[in-house]
Amino acid sequence: MYESIKQRPDIWDRFTSQGDEFKRYSCVDSYCDFKRHDIRNILSPDVSRAFLEKGLKVALPEDKRFGVCLTHDIDEIYPPLYHTLLSMFHSVKGADLDQFKKHSLWRVNGKQHSPYINFKEIMDIEEKFGAKSSFYFMTAEKDPVRFRYNIEDAGSYMGDIVDRGWEVGLHGGYYSYNSYENIVKEKQQLEATLGSSVIGFRNHYLRLKISESWEILSKAGFKYDTTLGFNNAVGFRNGMCHPFRPCKVGNGEVLDILEIPLNIMDVALFEQAGSFRQAWDISKQILDTGEKYNGIITLLWHNNSFSSPYLKEWKKLYVKILDYCDQKNAWITSCGDIYEWWSNADIDYP
Ligand SMILES: [Zn+2]
Repeated sequence: MYESIKQRPDIWDRFTSQGDEFKRYSCVDSYCDFKRHDIRNILSPDVSRAFLEKGLKVALPEDKRFGVCLTHDIDEIYPPLYHTLLSMFHSVKGADLDQFKKHSLWRVNGKQHSPYINFKEIMDIEEKFGAKSSFYFMTAEKDPVRFRYNIEDAGSYMGDIVDRGWEVGLHGGYYSYNSYENIVKEKQQLEATLGSSVIGFRNHYLRLKISESWEILSKAGFKYDTTLGFNNAVGFRNGMCHPFRPCKVGNGEVLDILEIPLNIMDVALFEQAGSFRQAWDISKQILDTGEKYNGIITLLWHNNSFSSPYLKEWKKLYVKILDYCDQKNAWITSCGDIYEWWSNADIDYP
């Protein structure tokens, strides 16, 4: 049933070269190097279109035309000093006393007042649009930049996320994408803190080795991964706007894990777009493409984007996107929900 994917070496060749400096295996060919090549390549889900032409049928719940999967990587729950200084500077510039107090006083008032502990605020925004999302927390201790946070500090907030029907998953450590031992350890730590099991995964810095990372994740008990995206561009990294079960490089064995490709990450989007207007235009184009092909468009907005005065436009764009998708009657939900639906819908690639 996945024969067609296996017979398309061009899909897989994009990932099997030596990788970039972060071993992300994304910047290896024309599909990634968007600055030197035609950007239409990565903004067009050619592979999904080919499947639809061959008869792929995607029926979404309640006859929705397309799905939008919302995700948040929790890289920080406490602002590092330079974030605090930037936020204070921008609050002064914008004459925003509340924000100034929030960013300057939390270190004195106590960790629980950290502006990055904003999960409730994020969920409240999404709830207004009938949406849900996934939050990926880190438990890794080793990180190339700094130790991020103690997962136990996030424990009580994770309970609230799950109680409201949102999802908690693992944000795998920078050094973990190719280590079964690390992935298992991090998963156990998260589950011990949360008090229940998790099925979803995305690696920090989008580090992913095709197909080794997927093999490891499947063996560790994850049901889906959503790492497959660009760090420096938005679009369709493997030409697909639908989830799929990846194959093992070499023998083509279908792996027991669902990949839900990542399409728009806040950092990459604003790096690529020169202005809010441009960022919106690109986002709209990707969402409209998702609608056209009955696809699933996955967004990643980091939690700090919602509480940083210097990233105000990032938050504003997120709300604008949700409003647009709501008006288009999209199914806006978490990766966990997408996984459940996709696995039960029995969708066959022709
Ligand atoms: Zn990260």
